[in-house]
Amino acid sequence: MSLKTSKLFLNKKILENENILFIQDLDGVCIPLVKDPMTRKLNKDYILAAKLFKNEFCVLTCGEHEGERGVNRIIERSLNSTIDPKKKGLYLQGLAACGVEFQDNKGNISFEGISEKELDFLSQVPLLIKPRFENIIKRLFPYMEQKTIDYHASISICKTKFSPTINFNSLFEIVGNNWEKRVIVQKELHNMMNEIINICEYENLSNSFFLHISPNLGKINEKEIIKYSTQNDIGTTDIQFLLKGAVKDSGVLVLLNNFIGKKTGTKPFGQNFNFRDSPKNLKDKVAFCKKYIQKKDMPLIIGIGDTITSQKNSEEKIYSRGGSDRSFLELIQALGKEYNNKNLIIFVDSSSGEVFRPSTKKTGLEGITDKEDYLKLDFIFQNGPKEYIKWFMEIANQRYLIKNKN
Ligand SMILES: [Mg+2]
Repeated sequence: MSLKTSKLFLNKKILENENILFIQDLDGVCIPLVKDPMTRKLNKDYILAAKLFKNEFCVLTCGEHEGERGVNRIIERSLNSTIDPKKKGLYLQGLAACGVEFQDNKGNISFEGISEKELDFLSQVPLLIKPRFENIIKRLFPYMEQKTIDYHASISICKTKFSPTINFNSLFEIVGNNWEKRVIVQKELHNMMNEIINICEYENLSNSFFLHISPNLGKINEKEIIKYSTQNDIGTTDIQFLLKGAVKDSGVLVLLNNFIGKKTGTKPFGQNFNFRDSPKNLKDKVAFCKKYIQKKDMPLIIGIGDTITSQKNSEEKIYSRGGSDRSFLELIQALGKEYNNKNLIIFVDSSSGEVFRPSTKKTGLEGITDKEDYLKLDFIFQNGPKEYIKWFMEIANQRYLIKNKN
């Protein structure tokens, strides 16, 4: 696949289309990747530009909106106010926690399809991780002081409401360039998360949760495959404990349901449709849309993400393809084909951040996609979030002017 670098066709398609919907990932797209998620930053002008799109823009992220680690706190810091975002509707509307946590631009949160028992167990997960994480550190780094262990625990264990997470980056810092040691860290923490998943079975919650591995190498038997570090690629940097059904492609259906509902007054999949009602595979999702959404109501969808992977297995000569943005971008592409409106798939190269990712400037599309990949990228922002944000602000302004001419 050749790299496409002209924004002209992109702008033309977006500006000439009456009915559009942006569905955009956050981290690595409009927020540069950082090792410590608590230091994430969001450009104020980007937030204001997103507002110009009104209902034509929504986010789809595996992070969360609310809580101390939530993107809402980043917005408040960026605007230097805890009142303005609510009053002026400047929170980023859309789905967080991989399709579970919905919010409008005033920060009103809703989440449906989750039981009290599941929420309860999720709140226990960080407490289950803590002693196991400490044991692993003591084994791998026997001379580490308790104070330092506590520090690593505090930044590695993310106590989020719907998606408690273990992040590997702070332990990767300790082992530096030693990729073999990074693999040991990945194996240990992956085993630990599997152990916690097994605990669910005793609580009669065996069908409730799964591990979301970022980035991953696709799935085998419904389980995501960890991507081990190599000399040139850091591989998996975090594992999230998620509700089953919480996948970004199901989130696309929830967002479409809301978008069309607002536009036409009727939600095509029903008033209370949530991520757990979604068909499971791509083919069924497309058929589901086809059944309930008429062509005239289907928008041109612009899908934007930064995490897709492709790795050639040299023995079997086949590719393992994964990445947390792959499923939702594939669905958007498939819907574009089905409805013949050629949805746009945009890739942002996030390798300029603090987290190591393959760079399209250095190694082309290696590690990201391949010739045989059915996911085709319509445009690549090679200069990362900075270039994307600049374009996003321009296109938001141009569209706003066209829409508000009279
Ligand atoms: Mg991302």
